[in-house]
Amino acid sequence: MHKFTGGCDCGNLSYEMALTVDPASINPRACDCDFCVKHGAAYFSDAEGSLRINVKHKTGLSEYRQGSGMAKFLICKQCGVLLGGCYEVGNQRYAAINSRTVDRPARFGKDVVASPKVLPDDEKTQRWRKLWFSNVDVSFDKT
Ligand SMILES: [Zn+2]
Repeated sequence: MHKFTGGCDCGNLSYEMALTVDPASINPRACDCDFCVKHGAAYFSDAEGSLRINVKHKTGLSEYRQGSGMAKFLICKQCGVLLGGCYEVGNQRYAAINSRTVDRPARFGKDVVASPKVLPDDEKTQRWRKLWFSNVDVSFDKT
């Protein structure tokens, strides 16, 4: 397992993750929708890995929905950093992380352009179920 940490700039949102592959072999997906382009985001995930997100102050977390509205984007209200995307169905939570928020020394492969906006909703959620972290825990220190 390859363990890394990351988070927003001010520290309100942070995470620890374990990847089953070296990040150098991962090509983050630079989503070409208007929202992600404006954030300069490129996402990665590891369906076999694990992700623990910690939120210090829940009031400082924005859960923004755009596009099809099926996933929510986790954004720090204080410093504006986009941590990643999250999709919930029943008790199951899936997530993908914005590769820009991973602490060094993690180094990823080259970004590849992805265009999930062209996919029908059911294909999009099928992709998320297959590719995104499925072992995802979110904890809150304070509300
Ligand atoms: Zn922040």
